[in-house]
Amino acid sequence: MENNVNAHEIHPDGLLRLTLFEGQARAFLIESTHLVERARSIHHLSRTATAALGRTLTLTSVLGAMLKGENESVTVRVEGDGPAGLMLAVGKPDGTVKGFVSHPFEDVPRRGEKLDVGGLVGHTGTLTVIKDLRLKDPYIGQVPLVSGEIGEDFAMYFTSSEQTPSLVSVGVLVADEVVSAGGLVIQLMPGASESCIASIENSAGMFMDISKTMRDYHLEGACEQLLTHLEPVVLDRLPVCYRCGCSREKVEDMLMTLGEKELGDMIKEQNGAQVDCHFCNTVRRFSADDLNNLILRLKREGQTNV
Ligand SMILES: [Zn+2]
Repeated sequence: MENNVNAHEIHPDGLLRLTLFEGQARAFLIESTHLVERARSIHHLSRTATAALGRTLTLTSVLGAMLKGENESVTVRVEGDGPAGLMLAVGKPDGTVKGFVSHPFEDVPRRGEKLDVGGLVGHTGTLTVIKDLRLKDPYIGQVPLVSGEIGEDFAMYFTSSEQTPSLVSVGVLVADEVVSAGGLVIQLMPGASESCIASIENSAGMFMDISKTMRDYHLEGACEQLLTHLEPVVLDRLPVCYRCGCSREKVEDMLMTLGEKELGDMIKEQNGAQVDCHFCNTVRRFSADDLNNLILRLKREGQTNV
C-alpha cells in the first residue's frame, strides 16, 4: 500500500496533448493507472473486467479531453454479446471520467498470456459515442464492434464515424491491483504528408505495449520513448481522475422532477426511497419525512411560479 501512495504522488495520472510533425497530426497520451485502480476498487471488478472497463475509461478520458466547452460531456456505451453486459463511461473536458459495467464480477479464462477482453465484452455488438455539446440535440456516432478489445473498436469509431484516420493503443496491466494503465491516440490532420503518415504507421509496433511502457517510464518518459522521432510538441498536460460528482442534493433534485404524486406513492408503498449511484456505488436512503420535505418544497416552488 505504501508503495502505491508514493507512486501516486510521484506519478499522478495525466494526459498530454501534442502535435506531431508541425501539426500534421495530433496525439493524446494518457497515463491512467490510478483512475483505473479507483474503478476496480469501487466496482470490485474481476481482472478481465478491470482491463475492459479500464481501457474504456482511458479512451473516454481522451474523448473528454477532445471536447471544448466547459459543460460538455461524452458518453460511451459498449454493448457486446459477452458476459460483461453493458459498459458505460462518461468523460468531461476537465479530465474526469466515470463508468460502470453491468456484470463486474464476470471473468473469462486468459488467452495465452493475455486477458481475453474481447471474450468478456463479446466480439459482436456496438460502440456508441454520445456527445452532449450543449446544443439542441446530442451528436451520436455508432460503429459495430471490431473485436471487443476496445482499442480496435475506438480506432474504427474515429476512422469511420468521425472520418479521422486514427491510431489507437490502450492497455491495462493488472495483478491483484492495477499495475499500470495508459493509452495513445494519434490522429492525422487533413493534408498530412505521405512521409508523416508512413512514419506514424511504421511506429505502430512500438505503441503496442502501452501499459508496460507506462509502468516503466510513466507519462513524460513514455512520451520521450514513443514519440521523440515524430517531432512532438506538448501543448498541455491535463490531470485526469475518476470522479462521479453525484451528491445528495443532486439526487433530491432528481426525485423532485418525479412530481408530487410519484413521491407520495413512494411514501405509501415503501415508506421512503433508496437511490443507488451506479458510478460510485453510493446508496442513499430517503425516509418518508425526507420525501415529505421534498413535496413541501415542490408545493412552495409551485406557488412562487404562479
Ligand atoms: Zn455517484
